[in-house]
Amino acid sequence: MNKFSKYVVTFSLSAVFSVAAPLSTYTSIANASGGSAPVVEQQDQQQEKVNLGTENTMAVSWYQNSAEAKALYLQGYNSAQVQLDKEIKKNKGDHKLAIALDLDETVLDNSPYQGYASLNNKVHPEGWHEWVEAATAKPVYGAKEFLKYADQKGIAIYYISDRDQDKDFKATQKNLKAQGIPQATEDHILLKGKNDKSKESRRQAVEKDHKLVMLFGDNLLDFGEPKKPTAEEREKFVQKHKDEFGKKYIIFPNPMYGSWEGTLYNNDFDISDEQKDALRKESIKQFNPSTGEVE
Ligand SMILES: [Mg+2]
Repeated sequence: MNKFSKYVVTFSLSAVFSVAAPLSTYTSIANASGGSAPVVEQQDQQQEKVNLGTENTMAVSWYQNSAEAKALYLQGYNSAQVQLDKEIKKNKGDHKLAIALDLDETVLDNSPYQGYASLNNKVHPEGWHEWVEAATAKPVYGAKEFLKYADQKGIAIYYISDRDQDKDFKATQKNLKAQGIPQATEDHILLKGKNDKSKESRRQAVEKDHKLVMLFGDNLLDFGEPKKPTAEEREKFVQKHKDEFGKKYIIFPNPMYGSWEGTLYNNDFDISDEQKDALRKESIKQFNPSTGEVE
């Protein structure tokens, strides 16, 4: 940059920031203009790429630190126990009863992985396999107690998860066993195989010789298949099954990730971080204090 252009840039930036810039900005501009600091580069850094990881920090923190998140898990598993007792009574031993649970954020708490992804701006599956291999995920609140109860009542428990059958089975089983989760056997942990497009075929396999009375998950896909993965169709699915939630379907909170995020991007996760950031913001309704309207 020659002497003249540097002067012009410094002058124009100073003019812009003289209106509303905080003192710290004044200081950095003043320092930059007084020495050889690259003023333009400094501005570029201030407008650098969006950090989607940072956008997830509140969700991960809520999941890990709010007592309410823990209470919601207890609420789910407590109502599940009431419902399971009803099913046992209703079926009077006429059927072999089964329940199916998703694993991630339904039985196992993977939020430390989400913490890594959030704080280091990493995108799944980066680091995921290492997390699974560590096999140190703790059960979510209420899961172990409920599962032990179901086990004692003679219910068949199936874990239907989209963890990878080939890569993740061993470590997943090790993790469940280490945490004392019942029925963590080879034929009860149904991970995603090469031919599995969804969880439906695995649910159907369980239904061949069981009456599948309850499903547990943090994603609608743990209960069934909305016609399309759009926000509208997903909401229609919820409306259609509105009487099942809290009864046959027990759903848990997950603000950190899930199929809902894909609906923001038309399910195209290959778009840039900037586009994702813009679409996330676009999806939010906001109140305008000047007009009194929600826009
Ligand atoms: Mg899950």
